[in-house]
Amino acid sequence: MNIGGRPNFKEGYEYSVRNGIGSFTASSLNELPGVEHGFSARSGGVSSAPYDSLNLGWGRDEPRENIKENYKRFCKAFGIEYESMVLVNYEHGTNVVSVTLSDRERGFGKPPLEHCDAIITNQRNITLITSHADCMPVYLYDPNRNAIGLAHAGWKGTLGRIGQKMAEKMVNEFGCDTNDMFAVIGPCICVDCFEVDDALGIRFAEEFPSVELCYRTVPGKMQLDLELAAAAQLMDAGIPAERITLMHACTFELKDKLFSHRRDNGRTGAMAAFIKLN
Ligand SMILES: [Zn+2]
Repeated sequence: MNIGGRPNFKEGYEYSVRNGIGSFTASSLNELPGVEHGFSARSGGVSSAPYDSLNLGWGRDEPRENIKENYKRFCKAFGIEYESMVLVNYEHGTNVVSVTLSDRERGFGKPPLEHCDAIITNQRNITLITSHADCMPVYLYDPNRNAIGLAHAGWKGTLGRIGQKMAEKMVNEFGCDTNDMFAVIGPCICVDCFEVDDALGIRFAEEFPSVELCYRTVPGKMQLDLELAAAAQLMDAGIPAERITLMHACTFELKDKLFSHRRDNGRTGAMAAFIKLN
């Protein structure tokens, strides 16, 4: 990292539309043939307001058939086999679960996984899925060991270092080297839109002293940069800064493309992130 400056991250995203469904991706992973990933935009589904229209969150107050149809469209758009998907069973914690082919469809047609906010695998024909409405997706890929990971990270999981724990579990389970890993931090609420109480901002500043992730606008409040907190812990795990992409796609600001829990006061749908090995 640059002493006295911001680490040398990759920044920004690519946006494309396939079969009527938009997707945010990172060029660093798009350039690698061994992996597919994406993050869905909100259009192209069957749900009506306030879940319009590609709601991919099972917990919402609408018929399961709608959400299933939305997932079918999502799968078709991105070339995902419906039965290959496995969903995190999030609880805003830091548990990481290694999944295998026997876990296909867990959280869809089959019973959910144990509580976990991150899942990893080194197997093909399985698609890791997380759903989001301000919380970050964190993607990991080790092309040498052919292993992937995907986390759902809100402020609690981020403060608990869910991204770092996911990287470390990939090292322990699959023999990955964090120097070889690529990381992507996908769409989430940005620093300018995420106001927190001072006490929480200070906890983050103390936990991640290597980056400047807070600034103050009004007394008693701070603006908190969750993307930087995620990136800092991935560097602590040993992933080089230049292999970490920060998309800077703000769920709060991109109203036409993304749901936002905070903007919509909790009455909103959810996007989905996916990653799978080719
Ligand atoms: Zn924003």
